[in-house]
Amino acid sequence: MLGILKRDPIERLRKALGKDKVKTSLVERKLYSYDATPIPVERSVPRAVIFPETKEDVRRIVEICYEENVPMFPRGAGSGLTGGAVPTEEKGVVISFERMTRFEVDVDNATAVVEPGVITYEFQNYVEKLGLFYPPDPSSYKYSTIGGNIAENAGGPRCLKYGVTREYVLGITAVIKEGNVLKTGNPILKDVAGYDLTKFFVGSEGTLGLLTEAILKLIPKPQARATALAIFDDLRKVGEAVTKIMTSGVFPSALEFMDREAIRAVEDYKPVGLPREAEALLLIEVDGTETSVREQIGQVKDLLEGMNVKVDVSENEAEAERIWTARKNLGPALGNLRSGKINEDIVFPRTYLSEALPELREIAKKYDLLMAVFGHIGDGNLHVNLLYDKRNREEEERAERAVDEVFELALRYQGSITGEHGVGLTKKKFLKWQFGEEGYELLKGIKLLFDPKNLFNPGKVVEV
Ligand SMILES: Cc1cc2nc3c(=O)[nH]c(=O)nc-3n(C[C@H](O)[C@H](O)[C@H](O)COP(=O)(O)OP(=O)(O)OC[C@H]3O[C@@H](n4cnc5c(N)ncnc54)[C@H](O)[C@@H]3O)c2cc1C
Repeated sequence: MLGILKRDPIERLRKALGKDKVKTSLVERKLYSYDATPIPVERSVPRAVIFPETKEDVRRIVEICYEENVPMFPRGAGSGLTGGAVPTEEKGVVISFERMTRFEVDVDNATAVVEPGVITYEFQNYVEKLGLFYPPDPSSYKYSTIGGNIAENAGGPRCLKYGVTREYVLGITAVIKEGNVLKTGNPILKDVAGYDLTKFFVGSEGTLGLLTEAILKLIPKPQARATALAIFDDLRKVGEAVTKIMTSGVFPSALEFMDREAIRAVEDYKPVGLPREAEALLLIEVDGTETSVREQIGQVKDLLEGMNVKVDVSENEAEAERIWTARKNLGPALGNLRSGKINEDIVFPRTYLSEALPELREIAKKYDLLMAVFGHIGDGNLHVNLLYDKRNREEEERAERAVDEVFELALRYQGSITGEHGVGLTKKKFLKWQFGEEGYELLKGIKLLFDPKNLFNPGKVVEV
């Protein structure tokens, strides 16, 4: 008789974890059924939202969900832009890591052990007070989490010099199939033992298992920085200038780009005095000691002025901050232009930028769309924003077709379909284009090795 009684996985989870960690009200389930992805994606209201507080909680969750065939959708702050944290099956549960926020810093080893729910900004502030530095700086750093950053291999402006999240993950602890605990790495900088299981998890978007802890590398905090603003009246010159800066011996800590539409959007939103008539601008930041930053920024200025480009060097921190605010305001500023926005983050090898930038404009012209391009041009990573009216289905379809061409362009120039935002739901089709059949089959095999039942974030990144 007992054998035919149906077990309720949610009841089992409640019993194992306690009521307070398993929420099933419609409000909570709906609240956790979306992320920051700006376009409509496939989405379901999950049957529960679970809030683990310890590693053991996570282990129990996976053990039960694996036995009961319940899909698990891990979530950090929900700031992802490709639908990574969005639940897509009604029988699934969202696992929110917001209560796992402990971390410990080992100053002498310059490492830290961090739980996934720690807010990146809070961690960075803390280590900087100790004279240390954790560079990965996605624009969402004030609210996104270390777990989400690792799962997406997040990056930002200063990743040009310091590298993306991947460079700072020395080890992870994760719960994989059946509730097995996998621990990789140690607080050491050199380790070439075996396949690099740690890096499998960086950028895995929650599809291989649930991260419960990471060992992060820290570096010394730079003492000073200086910022210059370069104004261009010819888009083609930008690529040339980027190559010249990057081969000059100066290694900028950030090298950011804004095109004409991006400049105008910011000036319409919260003016900071950028020239509306310019074709493009570069924001160049260098860091190091007080003396070295003065020398480096002087070198960059001379180099650009030699190309007849107008350059302003910020006199002080407040002025530099004002210009950086313009860059940081781009998200909301573009949101003001049209009700719909497809924000892609493609990558080109730097040497192709001079050709690729005008070609992007051609795509916008072909589909009669407003396009704004900005991004981390130093590492070739551009955010291409296609703007449209959400109520106009025909225009929306044009934007979708234009996106296909944008990705084709990136791949034609030996680039990538994503430099930061990941694949999630929205770029699955394009991942196949990038990897080809052989590579895609291997991706599927790796996924199934960690998750043979396809219960960790199913339907994201690779289709198995
Ligand atoms: C305004 C804005 C600006 C942004 N700027 C940048 C930028 O400059 N650079 C950049 O890289 N990104 C940027 N993003 C995208 C986003 O913030 C990043 O992808 C970020 O890393 C997501 O972190 P999160 O904590 O919000 O994770 P979520 O969005 O909640 O989740 C992201 C992915 O991580 C998985 N995940 C979360 N926690 C775990 C865990 N513990 N175990 C396993 N999987 C987990 C989720 O399933 C999902 O697949 C921006 C987003 C916004 C809204």
